[in-house]
Amino acid sequence: MMNWIYGLADMQSFYASCEVASRPEFALKRREDDDNSDPALVVAGDPKRRTGIILAATPPAKHLGVSTAMTLGEALQLAPDLIVVRPRMEFYLQVSVRIQLLMKQLFPLQEQFSVDEGFFAFPWPSDLFPDPIQAAKELKQAIWDQFHIRCRVGMSYNKWMAKMANKAAKTMPERVVWWTENDVTEKLQTLSIFEMWGLKKRARVLHDEFQVETIGDIAKLPLSLVRHRFGVWGEVIHRWSTGHDASAINPDAYHQPHKGLSHRMTLPRDYEEREEIKVVILELLDEVTFRVRAADQKGRRVGLGMTYGSFSGGFYRAKTLDYYTQDTYALYPEVLALLDKYWNGSSVRAIVVSLDMLQPATSLQLSFFDHAPKREQLIHTVDQLRLRFGEASVMRAVSLGRAGQLRDRSRKIGGHYR
Ligand SMILES: [Mg+2]
Repeated sequence: MMNWIYGLADMQSFYASCEVASRPEFALKRREDDDNSDPALVVAGDPKRRTGIILAATPPAKHLGVSTAMTLGEALQLAPDLIVVRPRMEFYLQVSVRIQLLMKQLFPLQEQFSVDEGFFAFPWPSDLFPDPIQAAKELKQAIWDQFHIRCRVGMSYNKWMAKMANKAAKTMPERVVWWTENDVTEKLQTLSIFEMWGLKKRARVLHDEFQVETIGDIAKLPLSLVRHRFGVWGEVIHRWSTGHDASAINPDAYHQPHKGLSHRMTLPRDYEEREEIKVVILELLDEVTFRVRAADQKGRRVGLGMTYGSFSGGFYRAKTLDYYTQDTYALYPEVLALLDKYWNGSSVRAIVVSLDMLQPATSLQLSFFDHAPKREQLIHTVDQLRLRFGEASVMRAVSLGRAGQLRDRSRKIGGHYR
């Protein structure tokens, strides 16, 4: 059977590295295998104002005690000789795009994960990549040769394990780590839950309420308990704690709309029935329109994306309407039309609904629906209830069925990654 190896490459101190690499006075002294060949440099919000925030710091700056999210004033107190530069975001984004393109050229599958992180995947075993460690080292070297930026690479048999392996690579001299199924017990499960990626405040809850110390301790808890406490997220966390993760590489994930709002849900199991999928779409759409209304906006481009259950891809498609709206009832048939047009019937693992091309609601004419004013009153009332009593206080009857995720979601703490 053919398997895949998933990798995550993470650039070191990305913005600061871009600055060092682009300045000959520093770049020429710089060595890939020696962090201390960098100057102590920070990128800070506004170098003239000491209240600006440190956005990035080179390793030597970090050795002096400087950390991101500190104010510049605090950093200069610790290290008066710091080199301070103002951010050049467009430049960093150009470098980012080129690094992602390089990864795309080297591997069959690639997904940008953030401005300085990218997933890649290749079949295993394979003649093209006979030695995974060597493949990762070649990626590192290519990024260094072309951009003079260091990175570390974690690889494993799914994306979640690759992310955790990447963390572990921090302390390895070569900054490359490959974890197999055999590493779950000794390497993943022995880590503190505070090292577990994606938990956020839930780590504290697990520690305080369930006496969980390590990732392995989560695996020992009954699934029903974790699920009861965290809803759908509990199931995800429980799977992660045993090294399981079903998410696929989605090459377009990072390029979904930005000037708008979207809400994404990874489902606890593959959904196959249109009726079930419709319920989740309505819940997501309710959440999106609620947030759009709360921001006093209306939008006219509505989108639907799906990630299929196996390694079989998915889609993201949007439709531009000829009017602006914030109304679930107007948008729902449009999203269902996207579903019927683009869904190929595969089982579905994750769904995203978006509304973009937003404008302030007050500057626009009313939409031309028959009973719009009355319905707007109803929507307004429901919004007020949700604001006061939480998103599950008023729920559609369909959400109470087995497909609904809203009840579980409302119990979870924090948000979903991406
Ligand atoms: Mg990074």
